[in-house]
Amino acid sequence: MTGKTHSSAGLLIGAMVATHFELDVFESVTAIVLAGIASLFPDICHTRSKMGQRFKLTSFIIKHLFGHRTFTHSFLFVLIIYYLLTLIQTPLYYMISIICGMLSHVLLDMLTPRGVRLLFPIPLRVRFPIQFKTGGLVDLSLASTFSLLTLYILFEAPIKRVLSTWI
Ligand SMILES: [Zn+2]
Repeated sequence: MTGKTHSSAGLLIGAMVATHFELDVFESVTAIVLAGIASLFPDICHTRSKMGQRFKLTSFIIKHLFGHRTFTHSFLFVLIIYYLLTLIQTPLYYMISIICGMLSHVLLDMLTPRGVRLLFPIPLRVRFPIQFKTGGLVDLSLASTFSLLTLYILFEAPIKRVLSTWI
């Protein structure tokens, strides 16, 4: 999946967390930004990805140590991040934003023919029975659907207010 699809899924998760926990504006923006970053984070193993370009050296090291879509796309990696977040006593809503953001990345990559090494270090590629090409029509439509849902969730109340004045 493209970075755009991953990040739009992350933003959607952030928006859902913000409304579910009824966060204030500052916390909402933080939750959305954190989920957005987390949804791109696993691709740090890919030197040409957004994350890879931002952290070139880390990305280079991870790519050469583990390969693409292995360690950073596994339950083990998500568990390590979860453990690190508990160490710094991350509030629950930020924790959910980050962990679900990362999981959304892994799930979306499982929809591509290449799959992911979900159970790393066990050398098993895991993917869903239906797969779509990165950058294909489904990839693009997923990105648009996630973005529209995010806007709807964030602006549901104002939209309803406007609609009620029309109808
Ligand atoms: Zn990936």
